[in-house]
This record gives sequence, structure tokens and C-alpha cells, in this order.
Amino acid sequence: MNNVTNDVEERSRALLEDAHSVGASDIHFIPREDDTLIELRVHGYLYQLAILSRDLAQRIINHFKFLSGMDIGEKRLPQSGAMLALMNQDSVSLRMSTLPTPNRESLVIRLLPQRHDFSIADLSVFDEATERLSALLNYDNGLILISGPTGSGKTTTLYTLLSALQRRYNARIITLEDPIEKKNDAFVQMEVKEKANFTYAEGFKAILRHDPDIIMIGEIRDAETAKVAIRASLTGHLVLSTVHASSAAGTIQRLMELGISRFDLKETLASVIAERLVSIQCPTCGSVCRPDCENRHHPKRTAVFEILAGMPLHNILSSRIPGVRPDYKTIEDYLREGIAKGWIPKASSKGRDESRDSKKLD
Ligand SMILES: [Zn+2]
Repeated sequence: MNNVTNDVEERSRALLEDAHSVGASDIHFIPREDDTLIELRVHGYLYQLAILSRDLAQRIINHFKFLSGMDIGEKRLPQSGAMLALMNQDSVSLRMSTLPTPNRESLVIRLLPQRHDFSIADLSVFDEATERLSALLNYDNGLILISGPTGSGKTTTLYTLLSALQRRYNARIITLEDPIEKKNDAFVQMEVKEKANFTYAEGFKAILRHDPDIIMIGEIRDAETAKVAIRASLTGHLVLSTVHASSAAGTIQRLMELGISRFDLKETLASVIAERLVSIQCPTCGSVCRPDCENRHHPKRTAVFEILAGMPLHNILSSRIPGVRPDYKTIEDYLREGIAKGWIPKASSKGRDESRDSKKLD
């Protein structure tokens, strides 16, 4: 008897972990005449995960009903419940709902990660981008800028890098934003309130008194924020910020227009990242994957990165001749590569800006 109970607990746990590990948003229990089909919804598509016997499926459903506070005896009326589960150190909120069907009860579990932390590997399907972004975690001082047009995903990249730094070094991260875009308990977040005279400059002074390791300035958008970011990186901290610009070179140009000298940029800049979001397809199957394709959980969009650091960055900061072909790979190079590898459909190469209709990701 105990073994059966343990087995149900283990199978329930394994189902949740399988779903969580592939980034599923829902788990569906579909009762059929002879068995129960388990499907996962991942990036909007349904995939078959398992087929369970009627009996085991009902026991697992009862287990979830019990954990989420539903009445186990009630099978003829729809019910809903909720519970919290801890998976791989992520706390995931689970919303459950049951529905009576002619073939027994059906159950849908919605998974809502509490801290929506992407890992760096989730930002782009291109391995080179993941490797080069991960290499940025080795900097312990200087300024890292993330640029892109509105909706390019730069805020997501910014928070993802900060979370990765926090996890890796257990660093004290203090952010200064206007407004705070994503609440995260792992950081100390401050909001600029210009009307109350709590400006970026005031906020920066407050941050320095708070013993930070890493400082995040939400966006460099004028001479004041630019100056604050440069001063913060001159104090020996690692500083991350975003700039509205279309390329790494354009970002440097923009900072100079905001009154930052070439000398200060050379002293402080560790890396400049530019990014775009593009729609992608499976290189083997096209827009919809076959059920057995290894890419079947691929996202609908991915970020393409241009990452300027080291010698190429030094060269661009030293060069006074504009218009020379850069000695690093630009976004356009990566887009061409993505098309050649079959990930990016040809149509989105002609300068169509995929990022425009995806504001919520930025
Ligand atoms: Zn495929």
C-alpha cells in the first residue's frame, strides 16, 4: 500500500519536473476511453509527454487535488485549486483546475514561475551568443552596456545577466531605475522619483553608501544618466546599463554625443552589446516541428547579439576614422549566419524589425 502511495508521489513530482525543465506553461491530463494522455504546452504548442493507465492517472489527479486544496470526493463538478512547488531552486506557483468529462475527470495544471529568471542560455538559440555573453560574467569592474531599439529584449538581457552574476558571486546588486521594470528579490532596487527630487545623481550617492558590488542604472538617456554611469564605473564597481541605439558602434557614438569623452570611455567600457529579436523556425522542419524533432521545444523568437569587447572595442575607441569595416562580427553578420543555418527565415532578413511587435519582452 505504501509503495503505491510513494509511486504516485514520485510520478506526480516527476511530471512537474519534466514540465518545468522544458519550460512548459501547462500540463494537460486528457482522459480517454482506455487510458489518459498527458500533454505539455511549450511555447504555445502541445506535445505528448506520456500515456498513463486510467488507474494511475486518477491517483495522480487525486494527489494533486489533495495538495491544492480541492475536494477529492467531488468528481462531478469543476474545481480549482493552487499550490506552490520548489523545482531546481525555482519556486513555481501551480494553478489546478478539473473538469468532469464523459471519460472521467480531466485536469490542467498551469505553471507560473515566481521568479521569471531566464538563464543566459535561454536568451539565444545561437551557441556563440551564449558563450560570449557568459564570458562577460568574468568582469568585476567597468561598464557593460546593452543597446537595441525599443522591444529588442535589452531589459530581459540586462536582468538575466544580473541574475547570473548574483547567482555566481552572491554579489550585492543595487539597481537604480525609472521605473522599476521587473521586481526581483535578489537585488536591492531603487526607483528614481524626479518629482520628489530623488534623481539619478541622488540615487547614485545613496547606492555608494549601501556597499554595492554591482550597480545597475536602468537606462542611459541623457547627459546626467551617462555621467552617473561613468562615475559609478570609475569607482571600481561593475556597472550595467542600457542605451537606446541600434549597434555597438552607435552606442559609443551616442555616449560621446551625451558629453562623455573618449578618454573616459577607454577607462570604463568593458563591453558593448547590441541586440535584436527575430522570429525563428526549425532548420529541419520549418515553422512547425515534427513530434520527434530534437528542436521541437524551440522558442518562436530569439535574440541575435553583437558583442564588442577586448581588442575590437579598444580599436573602435582609438580609431578616429569612421566608416572602416569593423573587425568584429556585427548583427548583420549574425543574421546572415542564422539564415544560412536555416534558423532565421529569409523574409525577416530584409531589415524587417521583428522587435517592433514584441514590446512586452523589452
Ligand atoms: Zn524541427
